[in-house]
Amino acid sequence: MAKDPASPQVIVGNVITMDPERPRAEAFAVDAGTVVAVGTEAEARAALPTAPVHAPEAAAIVPGLIDSHLHMQWAGLKLLEAFGEAGPPSLAAAFTALEADGRHWNGDADPTLAERLAALRLIQPVLHGVGMVGVVDPAVVPAEMSAYVAAHNRGELTMRVVPMPHPDLTGGADPAIAALDGIGARTGLGDETLRLGGVKVYFDGEGKNSTALRREPWPEKADDPDGRGWQRLPNEEFRKLSAWCAREGWSMGVHVVGGAGIDGVLDAWLAVDKETPLAGLGFTLIHAYLEPSPANMELAAKLGVLVAAQPSIHWNNGVNLEARLGPGAREINPMAAWIDAGVAVGGGSDGPYFPMDPRLGLWQARTREVAGGDEPQAPELVLDAAAALALYTTGSAAVSLAAGRRGALTPGQAADWVALSVDPLLADPAAVRKMTAVETAVGGTTVHTATA
Ligand SMILES: [Zn+2]
Repeated sequence: MAKDPASPQVIVGNVITMDPERPRAEAFAVDAGTVVAVGTEAEARAALPTAPVHAPEAAAIVPGLIDSHLHMQWAGLKLLEAFGEAGPPSLAAAFTALEADGRHWNGDADPTLAERLAALRLIQPVLHGVGMVGVVDPAVVPAEMSAYVAAHNRGELTMRVVPMPHPDLTGGADPAIAALDGIGARTGLGDETLRLGGVKVYFDGEGKNSTALRREPWPEKADDPDGRGWQRLPNEEFRKLSAWCAREGWSMGVHVVGGAGIDGVLDAWLAVDKETPLAGLGFTLIHAYLEPSPANMELAAKLGVLVAAQPSIHWNNGVNLEARLGPGAREINPMAAWIDAGVAVGGGSDGPYFPMDPRLGLWQARTREVAGGDEPQAPELVLDAAAALALYTTGSAAVSLAAGRRGALTPGQAADWVALSVDPLLADPAAVRKMTAVETAVGGTTVHTATA
């Protein structure tokens, strides 16, 4: 992306703003990378009378899509291994390679900085090619953080990235607190392209290998005293770390999958909230898809806790979990219930270990189809078109700690947009799954144009 702010422009089209006050508009005006006016074409032109007018040949223009849980650097390394520095020959080839089984890096040594920079040069255009403008990279180690900083310094970071530092918690809270304190930084440091996110913590395991922390034992582990799953951090240690983070201005994002894990995280945060109110800090439950209770949802809403959810995980794991847990598992990843309870939910993929194409996520959220399944799971929990789009715009902007600055096309927000081949609020889910990004812009600068 050019370092200079994009020149003033008026963008004309069927604009979906994600602003409840004015959901549709004819045009918006962009100056210095920011939306300065939205409304009729005449209103937008009047705001910047000398600016050129650009009308992409598209069915709709929406805020650029954001993935609130994408290991973007790992995905780039996977592309680098598959294709070398020349990169993938097409978007389709890129996604085939990204979704192939296997690790993201098979080299004997850790990737070098040069390899990481090459990886970022490969992955960003692929994601812009499906309308993406931002990611939360959940769990970066110092080498990954250095690569993001280096890419940004070289003017090569076209994606807005919110990296989450991942302290070593094997020794408990105290050494992790010392390490975080030693960075001398806090959540929010950076700029609108690269901004430090919250602290990433793993509270439990995963659904697919029966290590997510459930309230009941996993059926195949009924006789095992640890059969409810894996708690990776004792409650007291987790509460201590959370209290320190809240007090010191670090946000948190906690990997937690199972119901008992969600109970544990929210109980700790309820205690912390009594000393340091959590509202506005962006504390986030990551995944939280297996057996969250109505009480969990009510408490999360009360505390201002967000959820980063992944339709891709439901898509991949739905059949497997139902086979092991029974029909109750059909209600996994109940995004509609979280939203109904008043919780802000961001959409994402957990790529490259789950399919990262946001079109799959938008479709799955509206259908609850599962890979290898005969029928949708708990179809009463599907999202409507607007709620599905909100996952990847306003919802993921909130999880990116950028609510009010990104995710909607309103005056004062970043001019991040994608022109699409279909109107995602009018098209049926199958058409949304196949739509194409005609043009993608970040801060008013075009980062992708479809080649016919
Ligand atoms: Zn992940």
